[in-house]
Amino acid sequence: MTIDERLEQVWDVVVSRNPGEPEFHQAVQEVLGSIAPVLEKHPELAAHKSIERICEPERQIIFRVPWMDDRGEIQINRGFRVEFNSALGPYKGGLRFHPSVNLGIVKFLGFEQTFKNALTQMPIGGGKGGSDFDPKGRSDGEIMRFCQSFMTELYRHLGEYTDVPAGDIGVGGREIGYLFGQYKRITNRYESGVITGKGITWGGALVRPEATGYGATFFAEEMLRVRGTSLDGKTCVVSGSGNVAIYAIEKVHQLGGKVVACSDSVGYIVDEGGIDLDTLKEIKLDARGRVSEYVERRQAAKFVVGGSIWDVPCQVAMPSATQNELTGADAKSLINNGVIAVVEGANMPATPEAVSAFLDAGVAFAPGKAANAGGVATSALEMQQNASRDSWTFEHTEQRLAQIMEGIHDACFETAEEYGAPGNYVVGANIAGFLRVSQAMLALGLI
Ligand code: NDP
Repeated sequence: MTIDERLEQVWDVVVSRNPGEPEFHQAVQEVLGSIAPVLEKHPELAAHKSIERICEPERQIIFRVPWMDDRGEIQINRGFRVEFNSALGPYKGGLRFHPSVNLGIVKFLGFEQTFKNALTQMPIGGGKGGSDFDPKGRSDGEIMRFCQSFMTELYRHLGEYTDVPAGDIGVGGREIGYLFGQYKRITNRYESGVITGKGITWGGALVRPEATGYGATFFAEEMLRVRGTSLDGKTCVVSGSGNVAIYAIEKVHQLGGKVVACSDSVGYIVDEGGIDLDTLKEIKLDARGRVSEYVERRQAAKFVVGGSIWDVPCQVAMPSATQNELTGADAKSLINNGVIAVVEGANMPATPEAVSAFLDAGVAFAPGKAANAGGVATSALEMQQNASRDSWTFEHTEQRLAQIMEGIHDACFETAEEYGAPGNYVVGANIAGFLRVSQAMLALGLI
């Protein structure tokens, strides 16, 4: 995406001030590439340097996380929390535990989160955090000791009115439990609203585990509806096999579509008859196993190592694993095989080349900051329930989620039309998110 010359200076500063952070640059570039038309309509935003301020996190915290493994050996990891923007509410965004985590990754995620949270229309700012800790192969005891050490530093920066983390890659219900337990122990406060994704018996909300995958699928359904069709009868591919992917597959199946492939970081499985979700859940959720185990139980399925999951023909693609997993070459392959919609379940899984290829080919393309916002929106619903000491039914919460996703879809669609880019959800999401954050910042004075 090309950046308007009025924004080139902003871009130069971002690149020189944040060296060696390509993912952060990529996320900023995508937004700067969309928002030039806003400056014509709202010159006050340029005058108040809203864009420059939005690109600079309010606070960045980096800390040591020492812990002891099962062999009695001391391990040291690095923890991060980037509190990006609090114009709309307390910082809100997940924690990622993965060896690839570094400051640039956390900043890209926090930047995206700020716009995503704005799109939900909920009172939440943007933040993100995590660690380069690799949970794979670690025992329960090791995971607990790591989480306790991580929270022993992080707790001082959190609070239901300050900063409210949640899960992300490598951080699910188990980790949230250990983190919340340590927060409670240190502060002597049962402050449910300080973290989301909690277990249902200790302050969590129904639908939170399903929310991101369900939400992305609701978004896909809305995009297809605009084009006069639906998921019913469509063949789909969903990458990943974690929290987002599993519940995207579940909702696609409920809406009449058929998911024929999913993956992990080792390879992908193809099951032409449709992924058997009970089997996948047993392997991934109950046993914390690998997708390759699926083919041991389903004779008709195959496991492929090497190659790309995006070579599997489909009409709807939902990349739901990690950033930059779908390249320009993958996009060509999907387009040649007749894809009509691509919906990002993960954050920034499509490279800029892939996004351009989809837009040029007229494929309906939903950026993650819009399509995967159902997770954080349901986290905000969890905060509402915690604040009122209430708990809602599954049906009620799912209905709220569906309405929120419809609202985000419509806001992106209508904003894109208003700013002269009909059908371009990237432009629509970036402008709608940017306007909400920057107008709040303007109202709050020079912050
Ligand atoms: P999980 O940890 O539950 O699952 C991640 C999945 O992605 C696993 O199957 C994992 O495979 C795969 N994966 C991770 N890294 C890579 C890699 N480098 N290459 C290929 N596959 C990889 O995470 P989530 O499902 O929670 O998150 C997935 C994406 O969705 C992330 O981008 C996250 O930021 C985004 N997201 C998540 C939300 C949530 O509510 N959980 C909310 C909004 C966005 P393996 O086990 O082999 O590592």
